[in-house]
Amino acid sequence: STSLQETVPKRRVAIIGGGLVGALTVLYFAKRGWQVSLFELREDLRVPENKKNLSHRSINLALSARGLSALKNITLGLDEKILEHVIHMKGRMIHLGEGKLKSHPYGVFGECIYSVEREILLELLLNTAAKSTNVKMYFQHQLKRCNFDDGTLELENKKTGNPFQDSADLIIGADGAFSVVRTQLMRVVRMDYSQEYISHAYLELTIPPRVNDKGEKEFAMDPNHLHIWPRHSFMMIALPNRNKSFTCTLFMPFENFDAIRTEDDLMEFFRKYYVDSIPLIGEDQLKKEYFRNPRGSLMSIKCKPYHYKDRAVIIGDAAHCMVPFFGQGMNCGFQDVEILNGIFDEYEISSVQSNDKLALALEEFTKIRHPDAITICDLAMYNYIEMRSNVVKPWFLLRKRIEETLYWLFPTGSIVPLYTMVSFSTIRYSEAVQRWKRQGFLLNVIGMSLLTAGTAASIYIGYYRFRRV
Ligand code: FAD
Repeated sequence: STSLQETVPKRRVAIIGGGLVGALTVLYFAKRGWQVSLFELREDLRVPENKKNLSHRSINLALSARGLSALKNITLGLDEKILEHVIHMKGRMIHLGEGKLKSHPYGVFGECIYSVEREILLELLLNTAAKSTNVKMYFQHQLKRCNFDDGTLELENKKTGNPFQDSADLIIGADGAFSVVRTQLMRVVRMDYSQEYISHAYLELTIPPRVNDKGEKEFAMDPNHLHIWPRHSFMMIALPNRNKSFTCTLFMPFENFDAIRTEDDLMEFFRKYYVDSIPLIGEDQLKKEYFRNPRGSLMSIKCKPYHYKDRAVIIGDAAHCMVPFFGQGMNCGFQDVEILNGIFDEYEISSVQSNDKLALALEEFTKIRHPDAITICDLAMYNYIEMRSNVVKPWFLLRKRIEETLYWLFPTGSIVPLYTMVSFSTIRYSEAVQRWKRQGFLLNVIGMSLLTAGTAASIYIGYYRFRRV
């Protein structure tokens, strides 16, 4: 039977998009024994001279439990290899203004998230994929259109400008927010689709390493925190890099960006809102980077279904693009791949064309994943307000403190902080939010009781003292 297995042609999967999610998908399908072709529009970033052409999209990212779980399940030790390249962030460091700092740990048991550079992570995934004999990777190949029913793909070789044709049994769209595979799916399925731009744009700046007395490079701020400068209607954050620099991201409405026209405007703005960051970034570098670096827009995309018969499926940002304020876009995309793989196991989808359950498996993926994707898109939007504004409000902080204390006292109890459920566990996003809503009522009651008791005690003490005077 082994020789029979070897002669039966393997199923072919075409993965469109070699970003983080597409690259991980390659690994999963290579492991399942499929014939994998990856088509990526951009150049191969593993080639040194291509590095200068890299797009400017978020230099580093926060990796957490969901992403790590998907990495762990694919190749023995891949997660550990990646963990060698990360920096632990154990909490948020709030920059309150006038140089005042406040640390808020992420987890009560010392849990942390990890800052990882996009380029390093992608390179590791692509290098691992290149080791498989059943993987072919085509860079500078752009998908133009496809016919799902006969599996044909029409691409353009961007290097030569020539058309390129291929075909596959299954087409996976991991081609990001502006997915061509999704647009093609819309022609053959009744897809519900919504897209929302937020008013904020983002721009990246750098805090370079500081040189100490011994001439060694060191971090200019505490590297084991995600730094936040919350300023209500806008904010800046900074994540550490392995070369001891930080990448700052300034999030602000487009009109605020537009209002800063000159270097003087910029310095006046920074002196007003981010004064402690000026010596860290350096005035000259701030002026250079602010006017040179691109501004990115941010949006949220929801759609359904994600699949077409046994022919196509979309994952990652192509299926659910979210604003970056929960640090979950990539993590959620990685979890898509792990879940899709789990469903393939459950439906016993093999690498040879011997069964007919693939359509059911893809349908199951939409059914399982859609409620969770919608939930995290909404949560990311909610965190957009929490990060820039709520983190300095007394009521928010009191509730958070009660929540954390209860979780610390009763770790297996019914109260688990939302952040813990989203970032340090792999439970379904939809289940996390249901639990969070249930416990929210209880936290409000406890918070109000504490406030009432505190107020009553202050009045009583005040009155008692007053009488004695
Ligand atoms: P992409 O990364 O967009 O990759 C899609 C790929 O497809 C690209 O390489 C593109 O060139 C290719 N492609 C597109 N069209 C075609 C075509 N027609 N043919 C061939 N190839 C094509 N997530 C986190 O988990 N943590 C964070 O901390 C975090 N921070 C973020 C900060 C910012 C400012 C932003 C904007 C996003 C952040 N994210 C974060 C989200 C994360 O970047 C995305 O969710 C993730 O990159 C999605 O990966 P993807 O592979 O689905 O899509």
